[in-house]
Amino acid sequence: MRNRTMPQKFLPIYPMRSAVPVIIVGAGPAGLFCALRCIERGLRPIVLERGKDVRARRRDLAAINKSHIVDPDSNYCFGEGGAGTYSDGKLYTRSHKRGDIEGVLRTLVAYGASTDILIDAHPHIGTNKLPGIITAMREAINQAGGEVRFNSRVDDLLMHRVAVLGVRLADGTEIQARATVLATGHSARDVFRLLAAKGIRIERKDFALGVRVEHPQSIIDRAQYHCDARDPYLPPASYSMVQQVDGLGVYSFCMCPGGIIAPCATAQDEVVTNGWSPSKRNNPFANSGIVVPITPAEARSRPFDGSDPLWGMHYQRGVEHAAWNAGGRSQTAPAQRLEDFIQGRASIDLPECSYPPGIVPCRIDELLPDEVSSRLRKGFIAFGEKMRGYRTNEAVVVAVESRTSSPVRVPRDPVSMQHYTTEGLYPCGEGAGYAGGIVSAAMDGQRVAEAIAVSYAVRA
Ligand SMILES: Cc1cc2nc3c(=O)[nH]c(=O)nc-3n(C[C@H](O)[C@H](O)[C@H](O)COP(=O)(O)OP(=O)(O)OC[C@H]3O[C@@H](n4cnc5c(N)ncnc54)[C@H](O)[C@@H]3O)c2cc1C
Repeated sequence: MRNRTMPQKFLPIYPMRSAVPVIIVGAGPAGLFCALRCIERGLRPIVLERGKDVRARRRDLAAINKSHIVDPDSNYCFGEGGAGTYSDGKLYTRSHKRGDIEGVLRTLVAYGASTDILIDAHPHIGTNKLPGIITAMREAINQAGGEVRFNSRVDDLLMHRVAVLGVRLADGTEIQARATVLATGHSARDVFRLLAAKGIRIERKDFALGVRVEHPQSIIDRAQYHCDARDPYLPPASYSMVQQVDGLGVYSFCMCPGGIIAPCATAQDEVVTNGWSPSKRNNPFANSGIVVPITPAEARSRPFDGSDPLWGMHYQRGVEHAAWNAGGRSQTAPAQRLEDFIQGRASIDLPECSYPPGIVPCRIDELLPDEVSSRLRKGFIAFGEKMRGYRTNEAVVVAVESRTSSPVRVPRDPVSMQHYTTEGLYPCGEGAGYAGGIVSAAMDGQRVAEAIAVSYAVRA
């Protein structure tokens, strides 16, 4: 049962005006959980979010879906709650050593999630429920004396020699604090460019890229439950598959049973896919990212000279832009039937697909760099052998699944959590390369807050 007053019991009320301020850039899971933990430790978080609150953000999502207009500050990746808000809300993680997973789940329950997530083997919240939880967190932060400011894009860092002293917003406002947490997610390319331009050390990181594949849910149900029609008491079936191809894994990522393929571009001239499901997972399609690791050694299409830390970001951007061109220079996504993709032939027509802006036939096998499409083809063949019915022309492959993780790491000291060479800067969450998913990002936010609290106690 949702209890809006409950979070207040968790957050001590301090005389916040006199408390030490901590700037947190980004209101995704990393930023929000960092802010909550700051309050618990007597610090005053000022959360700066480039996007809008969850309610206003919905209008911008509708504009992407219907009019193909992408607001670079408010979209499926940017805005209150970050990329996690309109996600599937799957809460499983392999980061068991990185923090208190149950603590994160309990916090989500305190702000309105079902207690089922505390006992389910594969806990899942659902896109329809996440915005209410995020709103309750923000209200609690504000009521406890912290701040969450929207439409507040950080465009610059205030620096003195090798120390960050605060930030400058796009409207020119300057905010100062001795600690600035950078929790801007893996899609804030302007932030990566800013760090590079400021001479703040960042590193290239491997990431994964591929396509989203969508089957009728009934095919996955039949394959997994070995029956003609799913019993109504059973949940829509899911899958998780991996296959070694030419020394690298081809694997399924963020599988969404009963889900929708989401348009996740953060700029007008790119096409990016991801997936989400409502809590009931009652859509007639099952989608999943199918991706391959992108490493300089394999990436023949874009040689890496060893020097550019933004190489992976440029690789992602190149493929996303090519998908935009192929899709008709709109958010319409290029697509190909699965068997046609495997056979290397054009699809004459396409099956129905959940992707709201629509799909157009395209030779995705030719659109993607060869190091990606040749591995995907072998992966799909192997998946077809593992799961009966998987390899079918009723399934459709949609390009491009490119934002699986950050292509950049912002290095930090593992104890102080501070950037190795820049004082006062705390890289945090998925964008900095320390998380992959909602729970691990939330735990990273908590750990960074703890480290800042320790550093203030030491200095005091
Ligand atoms: C459609 C979709 C479905 C997903 N499904 C799942 C799932 O089911 N389970 C799961 O675990 N993960 C899922 N993910 C991934 C998950 O959302 C991310 O791993 C997680 O949100 C990362 O958290 P974060 O706080 O590090 O970054 P983000 O959530 O990306 O948040 C970063 C925030 O920083 C803000 N920001 C960026 N630049 C600036 C700036 N210059 N100034 C101010 N603010 C800025 C952004 O607007 C954003 O709100 C999904 C992602 C998407 C897009």
